[in-house]
Amino acid sequence: MRGAFRRLDALADYLQLPKNSWQTGLAAIDDFPLFVPREFAAKMRPGDLADPLLRQVLPVEQETITTKGFTSNPVGDDEATLTPGLLQKYHGRALMVTTGACAVHCRYCFRRHFPYGEGPKGIDAWNSALKAIGQDKTLHEILLSGGDPLTLTDGILGQLAEKIAAVQHIRRLRVHTRLPMMIPSRVNEPFLAWLTGTRLKPFVVIHANHPNELGEDVAAALGRLVEAKVPLLNQSVLLQGVNDDAETLIELSEKLLDLNVMPYYLHQLDRVQGAAHFEVPRSRGLQILETMRGRLPGYAVPRYVEEIAGDTSKRVIV
Ligand SMILES: *Cc1c(COP(=O)(O)O)cnc(C)c1O
Ligand code: SF4
Repeated sequence: MRGAFRRLDALADYLQLPKNSWQTGLAAIDDFPLFVPREFAAKMRPGDLADPLLRQVLPVEQETITTKGFTSNPVGDDEATLTPGLLQKYHGRALMVTTGACAVHCRYCFRRHFPYGEGPKGIDAWNSALKAIGQDKTLHEILLSGGDPLTLTDGILGQLAEKIAAVQHIRRLRVHTRLPMMIPSRVNEPFLAWLTGTRLKPFVVIHANHPNELGEDVAAALGRLVEAKVPLLNQSVLLQGVNDDAETLIELSEKLLDLNVMPYYLHQLDRVQGAAHFEVPRSRGLQILETMRGRLPGYAVPRYVEEIAGDTSKRVIV
């Protein structure tokens, strides 16, 4: 993470972006800084502002435009907070916001305005969340999310996994992470050791939006998880100018299957302020899904879902 791009001029220089093509994006980084790991930047086409990986991380002027219907809390996270750092929206599972840090700043992120600073800081800060988990016997699964949990050390994560495993009614531990795509070497032995080292059944949900994200280094990282017998799922966000065409998403599903990852969800964009230019109309999404269904085995077609604040599950569009 230390080597990641944090300056737009440095990224533009590395990618040889056309002169005067990116400066207007500087206005967007006060709100949400640029952060792009080198492993991810290396998969982008030099000189191409429309590159689907670059588009996910490149600050643009449109982010500063206020759009009606786009808010800072689009999915009801504030209302779903049980204790600092613990969200529950759905029966049987609760989500721990383990950290605010990510290994990439995705410009469309629905948590770009989340008050991460108010969450727990160290292992002791999770006591109230762990207490709440212990008191609710209807919970069977804990999701480690964030931010990205894998930006924390394995020492801390291992302790957390142990504490969760000590709660008898919890059966599964699910890690939501983009690190295998961003810094593939993060999928290392200490991580696999704690992930598979408790009685909890582990799951890992990755987040890849485009087949170009799945280079050989990423394939090797996912292979280490497969070898450790960890079931892998992928979620994507439907993004204008990134993956809003059937051919791209078909290729993504094919590549995921090659790597033993099951396509899980394709999310309609959460309407977060600053991300309106990424929105794909639902009618277009439905067309894309229909084409995918005509071309892929049923299990390779992700569920097209949206999140509605107050619902008891993700809402399946198709
Ligand atoms: C999306 C989400 C989950 C997971 O939902 P699944 O349908 O089980 O994948 C859990 N908790 C919260 C708060 C979520 O937003
Ligand atoms: S990795 Fe996930 S949480 Fe982090 S910025 Fe990207 S979409 Fe948001």
